[in-house]
Amino acid sequence: MSGSPNLDEALERLPKVELHCHVEGTMRATTVAELARANGVALPVADPTELYRYDSLTGFLEVFWLVQSVLATRDDWARLGYESAVDGAAHGLAYRESFFTPARHLAAGQRLGDVVAGLDEGLAAAEAETGVVVRLILDFDRDFGARAAEEQVDALVELRRAGAPGAERVIGVGYDSTEIGQEPGWYAEAFGRAGAAGLRRTAHQGEDSGPAAIAACVDLLGAERIDHGLSILADHDVTQRFVDEQIALTVCPSSNIRIANAFPTLADHVYPEMRSRGLLATLNTDDPSLTDLDLGLEYRNVATAFGWGWDQMVDIALDGVEACWLDPAAKAALRARTEAAREALRPGSRPQVGSDALRPDGPT
Ligand SMILES: [Zn+2]
Repeated sequence: MSGSPNLDEALERLPKVELHCHVEGTMRATTVAELARANGVALPVADPTELYRYDSLTGFLEVFWLVQSVLATRDDWARLGYESAVDGAAHGLAYRESFFTPARHLAAGQRLGDVVAGLDEGLAAAEAETGVVVRLILDFDRDFGARAAEEQVDALVELRRAGAPGAERVIGVGYDSTEIGQEPGWYAEAFGRAGAAGLRRTAHQGEDSGPAAIAACVDLLGAERIDHGLSILADHDVTQRFVDEQIALTVCPSSNIRIANAFPTLADHVYPEMRSRGLLATLNTDDPSLTDLDLGLEYRNVATAFGWGWDQMVDIALDGVEACWLDPAAKAALRARTEAAREALRPGSRPQVGSDALRPDGPT
């Protein structure tokens, strides 16, 4: 789908923030194939372009786990981090807080320090090359339970205390994977330890659970953001609280269509209702490679589906800045850069060659 050519081009170049993106879900299919060959992982298809085909959440998770399984060494994580950030920057990504979910790898004997150091090495190279800035969020896989989450927090805190390579890049924790049969409160100890160590907190909730579970993430886990939060509108009081306190939702509309099958089409998604209610509902891709998506395309998809113009889309980008975990000075700089781009890139206006707004220098 496509809007006007001018709007499409401007949305692609607009400096954008992304707060809900899984680094494993950014892996190029060709990289999956190469790492699988190098690490002796059998793939179910001969042609890498056939890899990312699924028709249900179960099918999607099988592909996601397959992608995870090809990451065996520190160098593999470095390659993933590098390609992830370079590919994002190509579509106007300015700043990302990216999830990584190491439970499966740790259970298989990898060390958290190697995962973090590898990602850091690749991300640093991409930052130097493109100007994009990326921070990391360690996501607990709920399939592995609360004890594993507590162990991961302890390991991360120890890496940070020891000044291990890349540990400072990990600024928060969250949880993901299945919501069925899980209670947020089970993870209170893990999130509590993370908060006590100065780590920020977010939680995937509200895809397969109701508004009470979303509120529980705030009350029991200290979550400052909710990832997805799709069911929130079913409860007026919880919605109003999120509006009043401006607790951010990291919404991924196209992912909800492709992966969760939560709505038949993008036009049926509750994203416009979330925003019109005054929720701080940001726009994100979730697993862009696995859904044939990028952040520029997601902005174009949403603008087209809901008939939104340039200024509405820039406001969404600014909400991403508001909801991010940069320090106040870096946030202000990114906000100013976005506002400058609003005028410099405005569709229909003459391009301002050499404008500051187009420089790819992200926050520091
Ligand atoms: Zn997610």
